[in-house]
Amino acid sequence: MKIPIAKIRNNNILNIEEQIDIKGIGENAKLVKPAILKGLLKYAGSEEIYFEGTLYAEVELVCVRCLNKFVQKFKINFSETYIPKSFATSQSRERDVDLKELDVFTYNGNVIDTINIAREILIQYIPPYPICPACRAEKNDI
Ligand SMILES: [Zn+2]
Repeated sequence: MKIPIAKIRNNNILNIEEQIDIKGIGENAKLVKPAILKGLLKYAGSEEIYFEGTLYAEVELVCVRCLNKFVQKFKINFSETYIPKSFATSQSRERDVDLKELDVFTYNGNVIDTINIAREILIQYIPPYPICPACRAEKNDI
């Protein structure tokens, strides 16, 4: 869902709940069913948007030890502040650092795209080397 910044500014606080089909979360990772994103968006002044919520997702992963597929459930609480990408770009130029090094979350144009946000959040939590519950149990036995 693309939410206009103007709408958040006018409402001051906006509650959202939506189902999102997130694609592109990794080569061996895919959603079993649409993720659910719940939260509230708050206009924090100076074009800054505060976004607090929870992302629920069920992701099919491939175990790096036994190569079996398994499903991992995620419930991710988050709270982030998003600034316009143009602000971040000029900041990085002023301080002569790479945009990535600024470690800020940005949005592009006049909208917040919740699909992009959900993807960014979920990718951070998907383990780079997933291990299925069976292999994990075996490991703990040793
Ligand atoms: Zn395994």
